[in-house]
Amino acid sequence: MVQERQETKLSPYTGLALVLIILMIGGSSYGIYRLVKIIRKPAKYTDILMCDHCGHIFEKEHTAEERYPFTCEKCGEKQAYMAFICTKCGRIFPHVHPGSDERIECPNCFSPDVKPLLYVPPKETETESMSEQG
Ligand SMILES: [Zn+2]
Ligand SMILES: [Zn+2]
Repeated sequence: MVQERQETKLSPYTGLALVLIILMIGGSSYGIYRLVKIIRKPAKYTDILMCDHCGHIFEKEHTAEERYPFTCEKCGEKQAYMAFICTKCGRIFPHVHPGSDERIECPNCFSPDVKPLLYVPPKETETESMSEQG
């Protein structure tokens, strides 16, 4: 009794794999490409930061995974926060409590009319001494 084992039909797994391969090669390959691109390259943000320690203002590119505070590029202290500017008196200050619900107000005139600083101001107002050591 010779029983010929001839599997004429494919197993369900092989069929599924084939369908997936066809789908990948076909229409959805661009979608997968985009997905891989998003995963591999996280979105970057550029914020203007101000050091709460030395008052240095600088631009910092970072990803959403990185949390405040950042390290100051001038003094090396980890006290750099997002810089805000008061529209009433022009005072630039670091927002030291990012993410909190409390209202941001100017530390100089206590006005709530503040907005994130969008550029690094030119270095000409260095007359203000911020109680530096040395
Ligand atoms: Zn600093
Ligand atoms: Zn103010």
